[in-house]
Amino acid sequence: MATVHLDNIAKSWGAVTAVSPLSLDIADGEFLVLLGPSGCGKTTTMRMIAGLDEPTGGTIRIDGRDVTHLEPRDRDVAMVFQNYGLYPHMTVAENIGYPLKLAGVPKAERARRVAEAAERVELTPYLERRPAAMSGGQRQRVALARAIVRQAKLFLMDEPLSNLDAKLRGTMRSTLRALQRDLGITTIYVTHDQVEAMTMADRVVVMEKGRIQQIGTPADVYHRPANLFVAGFLGAPPMNFINGQLSGGVFTAPGMVVPADSNMTRPAILGVRPEAIRLTGPAASMAQGRVRAVEFLGDASLLLIDRQDGGTLTARVAVADAPVVGAPVGLDFTTTRLFAPAADGGQAL
Ligand code: ATP
Repeated sequence: MATVHLDNIAKSWGAVTAVSPLSLDIADGEFLVLLGPSGCGKTTTMRMIAGLDEPTGGTIRIDGRDVTHLEPRDRDVAMVFQNYGLYPHMTVAENIGYPLKLAGVPKAERARRVAEAAERVELTPYLERRPAAMSGGQRQRVALARAIVRQAKLFLMDEPLSNLDAKLRGTMRSTLRALQRDLGITTIYVTHDQVEAMTMADRVVVMEKGRIQQIGTPADVYHRPANLFVAGFLGAPPMNFINGQLSGGVFTAPGMVVPADSNMTRPAILGVRPEAIRLTGPAASMAQGRVRAVEFLGDASLLLIDRQDGGTLTARVAVADAPVVGAPVGLDFTTTRLFAPAADGGQAL
């Protein structure tokens, strides 16, 4: 188990800045997820922690020890990548035991630890098979067992589930998380999949363009996004954004008056999640509109609503509450969040 401290680490390749100076403390036993769109710098951040990329600035400490310039093998980290990195000519048992062989662990102890790790990920019946004769999920578990067997201080995982089909990904999410809890190993996990981040993380680090946009629990980043980027990146379908004016404790936009928990007077953007829109009778509503489309999702219906005064909103409602296409509707918002306009930085107000 280990703590990790990143102090202003940065990485550029010539004129390309992959990661701007970034600082982050990861607690002992924590499951931390780096989340962001393609190219935001999450893999580079993790490769620097692993020792695969040399930072152009800053310091990395694992358990207080400065590892910034150490080789990967001297950092006591175990890595799991999306392509698993298994050796095709070795059996499952040999693959799992390989890091121990490299470390010169005697054969009998190796066999014992391989059997233990295989047991943990339910691979005992497959120890003599070769990777080619295994399914994607089984290969993934071999890679996991190989990480476990090392008894490393830190797990680093880069999109380890992305090659699995949706159903298996769901199962492996919980297997992996339960295993990590059980072992108590500090884990840094990279993904662009927000469901993975929300379901697995103790804390999520949302990144964009090489910078941290927000660090928080999954509930924090979803319900209290720090800025327009985080608000728009999390949630599917995404949050609705409405341009308007804040003044005297209310937000106003054409045809819309919404109570606001702010005394500021300034242009603002109102953020409303699709599930925070309630359909009402026209008299009691904050806005009016007409239903343009209804999409049946199974457990809910998505409505595309043309607002009376321009613009569209997406609402998620119970199937039984879904009106017909063309119906006029009143809209109330159960929770909202205010942001500065993008031109002003888009911070939450
Ligand atoms: P993805 O989800 O697509 O893997 P990512 O968030 O992990 O994306 P990185 O792989 O960290 O992103 O890349 C961050 C930026 O650095 C990108 O603009 C990328 O093109 C650039 N980059 C990464 N590796 C190199 C390299 N070896 N040489 C030059 N630029 C690089």
